[in-house]
Amino acid sequence: MKAWESNIRKVVPYVPGEQPNVKDMVKLNTNENPYPPAPGVQKLSSELDVDCLRLYPAPDCKSLCNELASYYNVKPEQVFVGVGSDDVISMAFLTFFNSEKPILFPDITYSFYNVWGDVYRVPYEEIPVDDNLKIIKEDYYKENGGIIFPNPNAPTGILEPLEFVEDILKNNQDVVVIVDEAYIDFGGESALKLIESYENLLVVQTFSKSRSMAGMRIGFAIGNERLIKALNDVKFSINSYTMNQYALKVGAEAVRDREYFESTVQKIIKTREEAKIKLREFGFEFPDSMSNFIFATHKKYKAKDIFEYLKTKNIFVRYFSADRINNYLRITIGTDEEMNKLYEALEEYMGI
Ligand SMILES: *Cc1c(COP(=O)(O)O)cnc(C)c1O
Repeated sequence: MKAWESNIRKVVPYVPGEQPNVKDMVKLNTNENPYPPAPGVQKLSSELDVDCLRLYPAPDCKSLCNELASYYNVKPEQVFVGVGSDDVISMAFLTFFNSEKPILFPDITYSFYNVWGDVYRVPYEEIPVDDNLKIIKEDYYKENGGIIFPNPNAPTGILEPLEFVEDILKNNQDVVVIVDEAYIDFGGESALKLIESYENLLVVQTFSKSRSMAGMRIGFAIGNERLIKALNDVKFSINSYTMNQYALKVGAEAVRDREYFESTVQKIIKTREEAKIKLREFGFEFPDSMSNFIFATHKKYKAKDIFEYLKTKNIFVRYFSADRINNYLRITIGTDEEMNKLYEALEEYMGI
């Protein structure tokens, strides 16, 4: 190793899902929404004037924060936006997790948390989920430097009720607790209801899944004004202009169309409930999912083999090689047509 190399920050990066671009592919591997963004977003996109690119965007992202604040019935000062919730959560790690005590999160969860822990040198402890892949809340009732978990959890899809989240908050009032609600719109009750009662609660959501805009990169956090101020102080110490002009405009437009949003979410929920029946018929087992994916395992067929086979049919699902979950497939809920292609391929594979 050269001397200069010894000063390089060593990190094992997060591995994002594959982003293949094959004609007629069925892409069920990164939990994107199979439906297009709201019609207003399409209209606005075609009308956008490139001259706005000449200027810097608003550093406070006020137009988008205001729209989200009115949608969620909070003050604009309680909203923080970023380049996808990955950006928001990464900023939150830097802002809130500065204790010598370890932060806590489940061992089976969004695999970015331990990467941020490593890159920001935040000590962390991964708390094992139980044999049914459920988070055990009592394991979080001990001294720590902060807590983060998704609800529903990923990649399991398991939703916990609001009382569960509140119990964790009640027992952890001296640290910041982040609830990552990337999938909450698909049937869960949001912890946003608790932000008035718990000033240490930060709720993070994203436009990538339920709002059909993964490509635009918009995420947001809602919480007590002091938490949001702290996030902004850190953001303005790194990059004042995180959100680009287009994202600010189309993001606000997407939020305005509540009806379209709710109808696409309902379509996905309906397809998901049918998929549960169908996948069970194929012999898959899975925890009950309240997200836009199903985390399934099969007693007879190896997940990795099914994954490889589906790929040859241009059907992409997600396979993780991590301990405890290396015989599961995470299957995103697509359109009914896409799901039918998946079922046909499974029939062929299983010879039925
Ligand atoms: C998808 C996802 C995110 C990040 O999504 P962005 O596209 O960066 O908004 C965060 N947390 C979980 C649990 C996710 O599944």
